[in-house]
Amino acid sequence: MTKHKILVSPTTFIAEPLSLLSDYEVVRNPFGRVMTSSEVIELGGDCIGIIAGIEILDSTVLNSISLLRCISRCGVGIDNIDLVRAKELGIVVVNTPDAPTQAVAEFTIGLILTGLRHIVEDNAAVHNGQWKQPVGKLLGRQTLGIIGCGRIGSAVAELVKPFGTKLIGCDPVVNRHPTIQLVSLGELLLDADIVSLHLPYTESVHHLVDSQFISRMKRETLLINTSRGGIVDEEALYEAIVSGYLVGACIDVFEEMPYKGSLVRLDNVILTSHIGAYTKETKLEQQTQAVKNLLEVLNG
Ligand code: NAD
Repeated sequence: MTKHKILVSPTTFIAEPLSLLSDYEVVRNPFGRVMTSSEVIELGGDCIGIIAGIEILDSTVLNSISLLRCISRCGVGIDNIDLVRAKELGIVVVNTPDAPTQAVAEFTIGLILTGLRHIVEDNAAVHNGQWKQPVGKLLGRQTLGIIGCGRIGSAVAELVKPFGTKLIGCDPVVNRHPTIQLVSLGELLLDADIVSLHLPYTESVHHLVDSQFISRMKRETLLINTSRGGIVDEEALYEAIVSGYLVGACIDVFEEMPYKGSLVRLDNVILTSHIGAYTKETKLEQQTQAVKNLLEVLNG
C-alpha cells in the first residue's frame, strides 16, 4: 500500500522524532533554508500533513494542497498560516506552545546581560588587540519592562527576579501577575531601562516599535526583541541607535530572514539568527511534540 506523505519543513529536524513517522513517506525540505510558497506547493502538493516552520502557508498554498488535513507548527507563532482559510478547508492547525518557553527566556536573560555589560563589543575589541574595559550596568538596579506577560514574558520575569530587578509589564489580557507589576504601555515606556518584547505578531502590532514609540521610551533604554521581527520598524531602530537615543538593542528576529539590513553596521546592536529556542533539549522536545500533535490529528 502506498504511504501518505508528510512534508517536514524545518531543516533542523533530528532523527528521533522523525522515526515516529515510519507509517508515512516523509518529504524533507532540501534547501537548507525557509522554503518559498512555490517550493512548498511543489514538494508538498500531495501531502496529507505538514510539519511547519515559519514558511508562508497562505491561502494560495493551502488551496494548492488538496489532501492536506493537518499543519503541525513546530513552534509557537502561527502568524505564517492563514488560519481562516485553513478552517474553511477543514485543515487542523496545531502548535507546540510550551516547548520553547524556557529556552527563549534563558536566551533573553543572556541578551540582557550581554547588552548591559557590553560583552560582545568587548570580546571583539580584545580579539583585535584592544583593551577598552567598558563600564556596564547592574541588572539588579534596572527596571525591566516586559511587553506581553504570557508564557515567555512570565518565565523571563521568574529568571530575573533573583537579581532584584524591578519588573513591570503590560498585557491586554493579563490583569494580575504574581511577579510582574502590571502597568499601562505608556507607564512602562516612561519607567523601563530595558524593554523586552514577548507579544505575538499580528497585523495590529506591525511596526508597533516605530519612531514614535521609541520617542516615548526613556533615553538610553536597551531594547530586546526575541518575539517577532515585524513588531519592530528596523529603520526607526537604526536611527534611534545611531542618534544615541537608545543605548543598544539585542535582536533575534527580523522582518526578513536571513537578515542583511543596516543594523549589521552597528557595534552596540547584538544580532542573532533566530536562535532563541535553539537548544538541543528544546529541539528534541519541540519536534517530538510537533510529530505527536500531527499523528494525533491524522489518527483521529
Ligand atoms: P503567549 O501567548 O503565552 O504570550 C503572549 C502574551 O502577549 C499574551 O499574554 C498576550 O495577551 C500578550 N499580548 C498580545 N498582544 C499584546 C500587546 N499588543 N501588548 C502587550 N501584550 C500583548 O506566547 P509566548 O509563548 O510567551 O510567546 C510569545 C512570542 O514569542 C510568540 O508569539 C513568538 O512570536 C515568540 N517566540 C520567539 C521564539 C524565538 O526563537 N525567538 C521562540 C518562541 C516564541
